[in-house]
Amino acid sequence: STRRVVAVPELVDQARSGKARAVGRLISLVEDGSPQLREVMAALAPHVGRAHVVGVTGAPGVGKSTSTNALVRSWRSQGKRVAVLAVDPSSPYSGGALLGDRVRMGDHATDRDVYIRSMASRGHLGGLAWAAPQAVRVLDAAGFDVVLLETVGVGQSEVEVAGAADTTVVLLAPGMGDGIQAAKAGILEVGDVYVVNKADRPEAATVRRDLRSMLALTERRDAAWRPPVLLMSAQSGEGVEEVTEALDRHLAQAQESGDLERRRLRRARAEVEALAVDALRRQWEGVGSDGRVDDLAAQVAEGRLDPYAAADALLG
Ligand code: GDP
Repeated sequence: STRRVVAVPELVDQARSGKARAVGRLISLVEDGSPQLREVMAALAPHVGRAHVVGVTGAPGVGKSTSTNALVRSWRSQGKRVAVLAVDPSSPYSGGALLGDRVRMGDHATDRDVYIRSMASRGHLGGLAWAAPQAVRVLDAAGFDVVLLETVGVGQSEVEVAGAADTTVVLLAPGMGDGIQAAKAGILEVGDVYVVNKADRPEAATVRRDLRSMLALTERRDAAWRPPVLLMSAQSGEGVEEVTEALDRHLAQAQESGDLERRRLRRARAEVEALAVDALRRQWEGVGSDGRVDDLAAQVAEGRLDPYAAADALLG
């Protein structure tokens, strides 16, 4: 659809002045893995690094969409411009079906300072390893104060995407078998702020207590930041303010300790690596399909060539 060539400088200018349409088109270029992304990213590079990138992860049903809505409302009341990017790393074609559309229909549909988008990986091989960070770049450069990067599910790749944020929120709720699930998916390592949603339910206090004791086991004594475990009811709005306050506190602490710089460095590194691996894979696809592999394989099968020499011949 977006194979059409677009004028990148204009699009970038429009996105930077807050035009939602331009922001959307840039993210579509990311989704499509467009060749124009080189130009887009070069134009955006000097304008990134301002937004607070908040990752949110949690199992389906814990109340992610409801919580997103509540958090966005809280940030808006503080005058912040907010972007929500919902990604589903494990199923490339489900983009749009989940969080984004439900939230879009909610309170913020007419608010120009809220941008909500879900993103699919459209099956490109690198998955979302570089696409999610690039979409975040677009939103950051577009001047949003907060970019909420939301992943669906609690699998390893979801946790990785959310864990690449400046601040990572892990959302839990009573009645979801959280404890074991949490330990399995490795979320005890990635959370900077833990939120037990549905605090209007009596079992929420138990979830909080269990989580606290699990966290205590993995906690480093010298840690500069101890992840708080907060109770919230996204539905009633109770505790939402405390969550946004904790996110601000975490950002300030991370800035002060140098942790923010380290995280962003790690994020950039992962992004560069993902792009490089993707390029190598593409190169390989070119090499692997030109018939030379079959020739070399035949020689290896017949014992006329060893496999290392064959691989060298391909890559040389
Ligand atoms: P998601 O699948 O994680 O995006 O979860 P949803 O936001 O769709 O919420 C799942 C269900 O939990 C819905 O029926 C919500 O109405 C409900 N829910 C969300 N937040 C709360 C809450 O704070 N309290 C209660 N009791 N239910 C909630």
